[in-house]
Amino acid sequence: MTIAEIFETMDYGTAPESPSMALAWLDRHDRAFGHFIDGAFTKPGKARFDSLSPATGAQLASLTEATQKDVNAAVAAAARAQKGWADLGGPGRARHLYALARLIQKHARLFAVLESLDNGKPIRETRDADVPTAARHFYHHAGWAQLMETELPGYEAVGVAGQIIPWNFPFLMLAWKIAPALAMGNTVVLKPAEYTSLTALLFAEICLEAGLPAGVVNIVTGHGAVGSMIAGHKDVDKVAFTGSTGVGRVLREQTAGSGKKLTLELGGKSPFIVFDDADLDSAVEGVVDAIWFNQGQVCCAGSRLLVHEAVAARFLDKLMLRMARLRVGDPLDKSVDLGCIVDPVQLARITRMVDRGVADGAVLYRADTPLPDSGCYYPPTLLTGVEAGSTLAQEEIFGPVLVAMSFRTPEEAVQLANNSRYGLAASLWSENINLALGLAPQIKAGVVWINCTNQFDAAAGFGGYRESGFGREGGREGLYEYVKPVWQKTLKDAPEAKPAKLVETGLGGLSGIDRTAKMYIGGKQARPDSGYAMPVVSPKGRLIGQVGHGNRKDIRNAVEAATGALAGWQKASGHLRAQILYYIAENLSARSAEFEGRLREMTGASAKAAATEVQTSIDRLFTAAAWADKYDGQVHSVPLRGAVLAMKEPVGVLGIVCPAEAPLLAFVSLVAPAIAMGNTVVVVPSDIAPLAATDLYQVFDTSDLPGGVVNIVTGHRDELSGTLADHYGVDGLWYHGSRDGSARVEKASAANLKRTWVNNGKALDWTNPTQAAGEALLRHATEVKNVWIPYGE
Ligand code: NDP
Repeated sequence: MTIAEIFETMDYGTAPESPSMALAWLDRHDRAFGHFIDGAFTKPGKARFDSLSPATGAQLASLTEATQKDVNAAVAAAARAQKGWADLGGPGRARHLYALARLIQKHARLFAVLESLDNGKPIRETRDADVPTAARHFYHHAGWAQLMETELPGYEAVGVAGQIIPWNFPFLMLAWKIAPALAMGNTVVLKPAEYTSLTALLFAEICLEAGLPAGVVNIVTGHGAVGSMIAGHKDVDKVAFTGSTGVGRVLREQTAGSGKKLTLELGGKSPFIVFDDADLDSAVEGVVDAIWFNQGQVCCAGSRLLVHEAVAARFLDKLMLRMARLRVGDPLDKSVDLGCIVDPVQLARITRMVDRGVADGAVLYRADTPLPDSGCYYPPTLLTGVEAGSTLAQEEIFGPVLVAMSFRTPEEAVQLANNSRYGLAASLWSENINLALGLAPQIKAGVVWINCTNQFDAAAGFGGYRESGFGREGGREGLYEYVKPVWQKTLKDAPEAKPAKLVETGLGGLSGIDRTAKMYIGGKQARPDSGYAMPVVSPKGRLIGQVGHGNRKDIRNAVEAATGALAGWQKASGHLRAQILYYIAENLSARSAEFEGRLREMTGASAKAAATEVQTSIDRLFTAAAWADKYDGQVHSVPLRGAVLAMKEPVGVLGIVCPAEAPLLAFVSLVAPAIAMGNTVVVVPSDIAPLAATDLYQVFDTSDLPGGVVNIVTGHRDELSGTLADHYGVDGLWYHGSRDGSARVEKASAANLKRTWVNNGKALDWTNPTQAAGEALLRHATEVKNVWIPYGE
């Protein structure tokens, strides 16, 4: 082709990047790797697997499958190194993190080329996105290490972090995991994905070059079983995982009851919503980034296009035109838009899902995009005529496949957007900022991008709602995933309570008993479905009252009431919620003597202790009221002309299972902050001393608390917490009971990946406000949503 012809057609030529430096690096290691444990590479082991180039199928290197012995050695090295690393202090650790960041920048080209070779993603992306963002994570978290002592007083490292990462952003995910862990004083054992371990091994070499103390970072390679060995290791204190929702569930079950901290960053089916007033050309470019970046193998890919009906045809025409200009080819060619799918297995999976969707009636569009003759390539694909409930619209395809639907009103757009079990991200396109900012809080997703998409930065948290997992990575909010309060290690075992026996005669059937408390559901007193009651007995064995024996059906009714009340309560201003909480406090105060008497009767507490419990409960209500309009979010400082609003939102419907002890104080300490933040709650009070809680319904009724915000179901703690844990309508569950009960709650919560907070059989000191009031509680009661708003013309 002559230059004149090139000017005429404006076609791109190829711009190949040389793989020679990356291949030379592999050669220096004889194309065979062991693990990186305790500051040194081990010899390549006997059990090996190959790392292949998805573009050519060529073997790049042979890697070692870790054994239990290898994992034990890595965890032991991390455990040995942890104290020294934490004791180095924030400023000391910061120096190391800066050094790592600089070395990543120094070797940026090598990282980028190696990543493209191994994963198949275009060099344009590894060079301009993956590697610089990874370096940025180390720089940013070096700063957090420096500031830890002043900004997170009272917190310390969790210990050894086991980190399991996927193949779609191998090096970037490593940085997302390792940088905050090290900054907060943890040491790590990381397993990269089997397909893409090479940049992790290059990073290990960088750790040596940076003089990182031995054992602070350990990298073991292998398949899923190795991930499982790490997560199951008794000396691993924290598990951080990114990958499929299926494996996320397995890890939730595997770690249940172990006391390990867990963060799960899982799949998504994120909506990309285009309103009729959007800048359609920009939105088309947005779609390109949303679904064809990294061949669509992105957890937060905008894979569900929702377009306003009025512009749908015009928008799809523009999109199809743009699709015709996309270039698919050799990942090392700097002028391709899409490279390879990571592996033939993933290619087959995408092909299978699309073929099945088309057989079910979806309409397929592809431009006439030439693909290389061999290698793992899949063309950019658009599917229309898709039902909202179909597999194509609900399941993560994890490939360059966009599914399009239309909507008529903003309400319908929100409904469609939320019609998913996932909730990772959403992208909204409209020139009407009022509309966009009005909808952002209504969308159930951890990240909302307004007139932009796939923006990431170390200063902004990232993570999901619903089955997209829990926990945040990045931003101030992400730091809390790698620390624990210093007081946590001082907690003592919770007192064991004996479950009460059923009274077969039915509620109210005992003569001479005037305290036959009902449940409180939807703002009304409710009889238990079972028709049975449970006795409330004084410490000396005297029968002092009875409460309903709640069952599955009562919990269902209570969850229904809480769900019904949620939208209104969530929308109510913090100011209004504060007023109601103050009112509850005043009304409780007016009846202090009665509540003190009840506590003395049920628990045998002294007059002084009972008075203190009531007064502290009143104080907790005042504290929660005070916080209701003050637990603010943040505006994150990211390298973007715009603002990122980190908004604190309520979790939703919360189940709260109270401990046996401190029957009034624990109830109030847990419920007050939960509702102050806009959650509605289903509460199971102390099962041995429930009357103080059930008496509260009169206080609620006289304090303007809307029906359904607080629902109380009495009964056996562990029976009812099991039902709450299984219930799909419960978004979060707090459990303060036994060790076994904590394990059961965590295990059952895997079904819908509800957020859990369990005490693992340890009792909080309910009188201590550091443990049982303020931030310690408020963080459990909220989730952070990051809303990205670029500005300027
Ligand atoms: P997985 O969730 O299986 O893999 C993620 C990581 O977990 C890998 O390191 C994997 O190891 C490891 N792993 C697998 N099983 C276990 C286990 N039981 N215990 C501990 N660790 C384990 O994702 P896949 O690679 O299998 O991809 C399957 C699908 O998952 C994709 O098609 C996509 O839909 C989704 N996915 C989502 C991602 C996201 O970011 N949301 C990322 C990747 C995939 P190894 O790979 O070596 O077997």
